[in-house]
Amino acid sequence: MLSTSTKQLSDSGLRDRFHKRSLEHQRPLSTVTMAFTVVAFLCFVGARNLVDGPATPLAYRLACALVLALLVMAIPRAGSSRTFGAIGVAYSLVLVAGLALNVSGVEQPLLWILPAMVAIPICAAPLWLTPTHFLVGSAIFYAAAFALLFGEPRTHDVDVVVWMWIAAIGIPTSAVFHFSFYRFRRNHFLLESQLAQLAATDPLTGLQNRRAFVKQAERRLDAMTPDARVSAIFLDIDSFKSLNDHFGHAVGDHALYQVAQVLMEETAADDSVSRIGGEEFAVLLRDGLAGALALAERLRGAIAVIERPDGHLTASFGVAEHRSGESIMVLLDRADEALLRAKHSGRNRVCAERALPLDALKMLSADMLAEGETVAPRHLWDDYYLTSHFQPLYSLSHQKQVGFEALLRGEQSDGTLVPPVVLFAPKPSSDEGALDRASHAVHLANARKSLPGDAWLFLNILPATFIAEGYADQLAMIVRAVGLEPERVILEILESHGGSVDDMSRAAAVYRAHGFLIAVDDFGAGQSNLDRLFRIRPDIVKLDGELIRATSHGSGQPILPKLVSLLHQAGMLVVVEGVETTEELILAVESNVDFAQGYLLGRPAAEIARPESVHRRIDDAFDVIAQGRAHQYALFESEVEPYRSALSRAADDLLAGALMDQAFAVLATFDRCISCFILDDSGRQIGHELRGPAWSSEAASLHPVANPRDARWDHRPYFRNAVLLPGVAVASNPYLSLASGRPCIAVTLALQFAAERSVIGVEMDWSAVGLPWPAGE
Ligand code: GH3
Ligand code: MG
Ligand code: MG
Repeated sequence: MLSTSTKQLSDSGLRDRFHKRSLEHQRPLSTVTMAFTVVAFLCFVGARNLVDGPATPLAYRLACALVLALLVMAIPRAGSSRTFGAIGVAYSLVLVAGLALNVSGVEQPLLWILPAMVAIPICAAPLWLTPTHFLVGSAIFYAAAFALLFGEPRTHDVDVVVWMWIAAIGIPTSAVFHFSFYRFRRNHFLLESQLAQLAATDPLTGLQNRRAFVKQAERRLDAMTPDARVSAIFLDIDSFKSLNDHFGHAVGDHALYQVAQVLMEETAADDSVSRIGGEEFAVLLRDGLAGALALAERLRGAIAVIERPDGHLTASFGVAEHRSGESIMVLLDRADEALLRAKHSGRNRVCAERALPLDALKMLSADMLAEGETVAPRHLWDDYYLTSHFQPLYSLSHQKQVGFEALLRGEQSDGTLVPPVVLFAPKPSSDEGALDRASHAVHLANARKSLPGDAWLFLNILPATFIAEGYADQLAMIVRAVGLEPERVILEILESHGGSVDDMSRAAAVYRAHGFLIAVDDFGAGQSNLDRLFRIRPDIVKLDGELIRATSHGSGQPILPKLVSLLHQAGMLVVVEGVETTEELILAVESNVDFAQGYLLGRPAAEIARPESVHRRIDDAFDVIAQGRAHQYALFESEVEPYRSALSRAADDLLAGALMDQAFAVLATFDRCISCFILDDSGRQIGHELRGPAWSSEAASLHPVANPRDARWDHRPYFRNAVLLPGVAVASNPYLSLASGRPCIAVTLALQFAAERSVIGVEMDWSAVGLPWPAGE
């Protein structure tokens, strides 16, 4: 069976193509043959000049040669077979006229022209493109030739000779030449087009094969006007292998043929339909996504009624609309991605491509951005809707809402929520970035009406999306389209793989140029580290909730305030997430974080909620901390005071000339005393240290740095603070002692001996549980 790729061509269509092809073939042959005739004509003119007697002026005859040459030059430019035929006719007439001019005045004109009158139609015969051209061209030529031949008075014998040459030799030979050439060309053309068709057709179904489909699609896309819409449908028969395996390949082949018939019947004449390979088919149609989805659904229905021995055939469909500038392969890839989703979500269904952020925006602006719309904007995704929930963030010092983090939720059409494990489950075919981008459009559309004028919107963004080429511009466009400013939007870069730190820091600069603020999410978990932080240089750091829980259940040693202090010094504001209990809120306030978020302060909700009594809760936390601080201070003082007094007395003894062991004798018996020491003006230890009861040799875990005599200590706060207040015993904050490997406090005092200044001190063990740790920067 030989059906053509795009339906059967009509006969006239085939003829037209044949004539076009003939013209291509004939042009070079005609040019050479007719150019040769011009040369022959010039020889004729030359020969005539050798004959005596009156003759037509040479210039006229050469003018004929010139016109013939011009006609030869016109042949390569002949675009249609008609023009080509017209050139042929004009050429013959000029040739006849040229011959007439040459022979005028000769004694026996017939001798000159009869051979030409016989030879010219024979030579021209193969060159006429069609029998019509041949018949018309030859008739005109002979009419002109007869006028010339029989214009002169002549005898009956001569007439017989002339007729004999023309009727018996000239006409039949040229007819044989023309028609055999014509037949040869036509057969060659038919064979050629049959071969081309075979090469483009799938023999089993008669549909275009992949190569022909792609080639034709490329041509269609190239010729597309900017407002034209084209979509691709990709379909794959479900469980086809089992059909082959259980019932044999013949049954499988028949099913493929039946599916192809359905595709041919249901699609329009100018749709391209192809068997792409195996049991996969593709359709390219001149329509947008909605039209293509409707066609795919019709095809699905029509295939589902085809019977197979164990039930009915079904197929899965992926549909994508062509985007400007996109190649056919990319379009098919996107349709294929949708097809894979159709397979993974249960087969026998149609899935549309995932929307671009801008497409999502288009959709949102059409239906959901309408004024007065009361239903929250949502966006169809797989077989559920995407929508937003918002969780408030509070400024602890201001005790008020400063922003909302948008969190993505999936919702079935009956309003039940899709569990996050399903929503964010990695799918084999999925483009995580597509969900990420769609979520931004949905959140922005949802936030635009209810986001208070002075609040930020926090949007989560995957590192891969964050660094995607051009996304900063797109996002800024969407933000403006919903009536917000990028300055109101904080992008929270999620803690996950994807994108090098270099790429992220480069991308951050682009987002900043648009006005967006940047936050790093989940600091303290997974991929986050200080290098990443200091290179991205976010405006805000969100501390992972686990960090605060670990701190609040830990030893009570305030790591968090130090971390916050470090981040503040680097110019970053700090949010603590996951605040669920009052204890955690107190810790957050105590740690000096700027903003807090968590169930205690507000749960995520579909509506952007007015604050309730949250500010009271934060205020209470501040009160608790203020009381706690006073208590801690008192406790600290009561612990340290005896050491301070004893150190002052030791200073007095030293100034009075006592030796070191004598001066520190009392202090060295105090319970928490690790050691007493004297440092010189440059912080180096003078002499030995006097060990106290808290000194323990096995505690010296940091062995290589355990000997204080190797080091200078003038950089330590306890040295500097003592020097600032000479004669006063000052207590340090707790620090890790290199000598003991345990938390310590140093009480120090600067003394002026006769010649130089010294700092004396006692290191106290501060590792016992329950000792106060003053917080703060
Ligand atoms: P799924 O629902 O996931 O698409 O499963 P499936 O079994 O349809 O898909 P799979 O790709 O595993 O199997 C496709 C089968 O199609 C395997 C191959 O032998 C068969 N096949 C490919 N070309 C032809 C053909 O021309 N004729 C027949 N009868 N079978 C073919
Ligand atoms: Mg299949
Ligand atoms: Mg397959």
